[in-house]
Amino acid sequence: MRAKTPFSFEVYPPRKPEMQDALHDTIQKLASVGPEYITVTYGANGSSRDSSLECVSYIRQNTAIDPLAHLTCVGSTREEAEALVRQFYGAGIRSFLALRGDAPEGAEATEDFLGELKTAADLVALIRSVSPYARIAVAAFPNGHPDSQRENQDIEALLAKQAAGADFAITQLFFTASDYIDFVARARAAGVTIPLTPGIMPVTNANRLARIVEITGLETPRELTDALTSATTKEEQRAIGIAHAVDLANAVLDAGAPGIHLYAFNEHETVLEVLRHVGVIE
Ligand code: FAD
Repeated sequence: MRAKTPFSFEVYPPRKPEMQDALHDTIQKLASVGPEYITVTYGANGSSRDSSLECVSYIRQNTAIDPLAHLTCVGSTREEAEALVRQFYGAGIRSFLALRGDAPEGAEATEDFLGELKTAADLVALIRSVSPYARIAVAAFPNGHPDSQRENQDIEALLAKQAAGADFAITQLFFTASDYIDFVARARAAGVTIPLTPGIMPVTNANRLARIVEITGLETPRELTDALTSATTKEEQRAIGIAHAVDLANAVLDAGAPGIHLYAFNEHETVLEVLRHVGVIE
């Protein structure tokens, strides 16, 4: 058993109002197993501002679990970014994942799209100034950020976020345990001291895997892709995705990971099954 292993989940706000009840039900199921926090994503360029706020507020008011709000600063003035932080702070939110965010589709990653806060580190500093005791997470990229132009750039970005006041990082998903383990070793050698929580995504069908690879710019994991593609039933695909996530979680925990963060896709069964197999919950 790994009963004392901290774990957490990510959900996204409902894409349509009629999906809200189902999401609330999922949140209740996720909350019932005692995660350290549940994170709620923030749509690119503020597109989900209201629904993200509604979702973190729901978690705060209806569960015993700390909601952790993703926020992005891309394309904002400093004043707008501060108003956003204050809006969430005013709703009682004290835990944040500070992100730069991406350029709108088709736009180049130039100064123009960035706005006044150029990096997530600037947003960390802004959140710290509004809420000195906030819990602030940042993103980390075991396989490098797609915008990264040289090998050490992601570690430099992480050091900048740490220096700005980040408490810990959650990683982008990865498909091989050594990607995370090697990244942690490089980060530690460069002076990163904050906990680096591995983000693990159970991928239970081939189409979703292809979409994830497209969005993240990660290399296609051949073995997992082949296994999912050759499975003949949905149940078989699901079992493959769960087994892969369980192996990944066991390997990174054995290597000293401080906990695991699971991308839940607004469904509870799969991530809870992963946690049960890893021995984190009964
Ligand atoms: P930054 O940390 O600012 O940096 C991006 C890259 O720029 C760095 O990796 C590095 O290559 C370079 N860089 C930045 N600062 C420096 C520096 N000081 N020195 C050298 N190089 C530097 N996006 C959303 O829109 N909404 C979400 O809810 C969301 N949730 C996410 C959750 C997780 C766990 C992760 C891993 C990503 C998430 N993203 C989300 C995606 C994220 O917004 C994008 O990856 C975005 O392109 C970069 O954001 P960032 O916070 O990593 O940016």
